Amino acid sequence: MENIHSAIIDLVIETHIGLERQGPGSPEMTIKALNFLDNLDNISRIVDLACGTGGQTMVLAQNITGNIIGVDHCPDFINIFNKNVRKLNLQERVKGIVGSMENLSFKKEEFDLIWSEGAIDNIGFEKGLNYWNGFLKKNGYIAVTCPSWFTDERPAEIEKFWNNAGSRLDTIGDNISIMQKSGYNFVAAYTLPEKCWTDNYFIPREAAEKALLEKYKGNKTVEAYINAEKYEVELYSKYKQYYGYAFYIGKKI
Ligand code: SAH
Repeated sequence: MENIHSAIIDLVIETHIGLERQGPGSPEMTIKALNFLDNLDNISRIVDLACGTGGQTMVLAQNITGNIIGVDHCPDFINIFNKNVRKLNLQERVKGIVGSMENLSFKKEEFDLIWSEGAIDNIGFEKGLNYWNGFLKKNGYIAVTCPSWFTDERPAEIEKFWNNAGSRLDTIGDNISIMQKSGYNFVAAYTLPEKCWTDNYFIPREAAEKALLEKYKGNKTVEAYINAEKYEVELYSKYKQYYGYAFYIGKKI
């Protein structure tokens, strides 16, 4: 069982490592979120939690002047992240480090901005917002994306899929309320357009999966993994009116 689990983790990494991003999103949506913030300058300290290989971090770095630390628990992703930093000549003020978003090694009230795209549901929206609040300065901002329900009710099949994936989704209204109870003023929330999933994530991921199937021809674990990923894409196309990603922006009180 443990072996299957680590084989799947290896496959997730191998599929995602060459992609520009490891989850739904877009440079436009990252910049839109940035436009709600009014506290940043060249001495600002920013952390991007679960940054992956840094698709969104590099967009941030090219649109603000402060110092950015990217944190991800996958060393292979951080390796690529730091290569991307050097390629863009950002090493003076951007750095990737290996770490857990659930157990941060930073000082309390260290950051002006905490960013996190496509990852907070791994630990839970409420838990993440509460824990990260301690690392923000007063009036510092949080900006996160999280898969969310768009309706109060939805078909059992899609609810079951997310439960089995270990992510408990809430509605956008519930998440705004959680934000307001977790020490933040609510600033903005908006849904991400469909192409953030399709063009920017599923399509490049499918190309990587095709290459993986060729490389591991006949391997049942690889086939099962890719079939499960295909099911995720099918469900999205079938049920996208019921759920999707939303950006949530808050300001620490
Ligand atoms: N922010 C990136 C990556 C999102 S994919 C993007 O939007 O493209 C989710 C990321 O969360 C992966 O890179 C994974 O390695 C990381 N991750 C998952 N659980 C984590 C944890 N507990 N601590 C740190 N990183 C974690």
